[in-house]
Amino acid sequence: MEHLKTIGSCQSNAGSGHGPGREKRLQEYAESQQLKERMDKISHKIMVLSGKGGVGKSTVAVNLALALALEGKQVGLLDLDFHGPSIPKLLRLEGQLLKMVDKQIMPVEFAHGIKVMSMGFLLPDENAAVIWRGPLKMGAIKQLLAEVCWGELDYLIIDFPPGTGDEAISAAQLLPESDGAVIVTTPQDLSLTDVRKSIDFCRQVKVPILGVIENMSGLVCPHCQTVIDVFKRGGGEVMAKELNVPFLCRIPLEPLIVEASDQGMPFIYHYGKTEAAKAFAKAVTPLLNLKDNRKEKSMKAKPATTGKESAKAVKIAVPLENGQLCNHFGHCETFALLDIDMEKKTIVRREDIPAPTHEPGLLPSWLQERGVNRIIAGGIGSRALGLFAERGIQVIVGASPGDPETIIRNYLDDALVTGQNVCDH
Ligand code: ADP
Repeated sequence: MEHLKTIGSCQSNAGSGHGPGREKRLQEYAESQQLKERMDKISHKIMVLSGKGGVGKSTVAVNLALALALEGKQVGLLDLDFHGPSIPKLLRLEGQLLKMVDKQIMPVEFAHGIKVMSMGFLLPDENAAVIWRGPLKMGAIKQLLAEVCWGELDYLIIDFPPGTGDEAISAAQLLPESDGAVIVTTPQDLSLTDVRKSIDFCRQVKVPILGVIENMSGLVCPHCQTVIDVFKRGGGEVMAKELNVPFLCRIPLEPLIVEASDQGMPFIYHYGKTEAAKAFAKAVTPLLNLKDNRKEKSMKAKPATTGKESAKAVKIAVPLENGQLCNHFGHCETFALLDIDMEKKTIVRREDIPAPTHEPGLLPSWLQERGVNRIIAGGIGSRALGLFAERGIQVIVGASPGDPETIIRNYLDDALVTGQNVCDH
């Protein structure tokens, strides 16, 4: 259990000017390798997002996982909602004791072989999460992804933190190879405004949008079967069309969902004939048709870039202090800007320019004006991460110290050692 207590531990000392020690760097390297190995065993990683809480995101995540398991798939369900990890409640798994085997956290098994992991299994009480600072959450998200022994899975459904804040950005950055996101909304105008933000978020962090689900869309009267539009109806579909994203299904308000959740019963399994269960089954069809990434990976080595990317000029910024990578992004002396030919994997040109005077919020526009579309950093504040994501600038954090050209060479050779974000200011 020693392992579990350290979940989310802050490694702020690593941000000192001396940089982390060799042992620590090796440990971080081992962790990122572990994360990669674990994720490589999972064919499809699907994020379930919502613009705000209470729209039924966790309910959708649970029922999508169930629908996939009922199709004979091996499924994992990961609850990253720190503010109200409801998956244990919805599945009646509260108070479960996690087992550790060979220093790996074993997920809890639910009906139909679904493997479940939730922050809720780790928190001493419901309020513990809200006092966590960004770096702690980032560490915890990373550990949940890297140290949980999922084994081989067809699908990992990830119940994301609601909204588009730092936690969602951090989690999305740790899952660069996800299949995409399912966005859950309710039909009211207010929720639809939030879902637009989720769609923008996906576009900024380059997560494909698998589709929108409109939940709580009308109530089917149990007596006369008339549909009552409690929160309006159809807005999600109209908006999906407007924004050119797939619309997956409309799930009605269904009292049996609440009853099933309260009793920890798999809803779509027990109430398969209801409109809501049919809607979940419909939403799952495109997920079942996704290409099998695991098979593709084993058939051919992963190219370092996509065709689109190789055509694009890539300009990488590396923050420097005394010619070496500076751990404190916002306080570096100089930026090395390197033009890269991604196809030939070569550095075409390097230019070192003095950093502008420190002014919060300035660097994203300053770097974008200079054509930068990628950054390799040791540590960077979570707010800055969000600002870069908004501008479509990809940030690779946790790089180990070194001179910029060696760092870039390692990056191009897929050998860059990255660990935790070592600075959050
Ligand atoms: P979120 O994850 O977005 O905060 P939850 O999935 O926890 O939301 O759902 C909030 C509440 O709404 C739960 O009690 C759940 O049982 C209920 N709920 C969700 N979807 C429906 C639905 N279609 N019909 C009836 N109740 C629902």
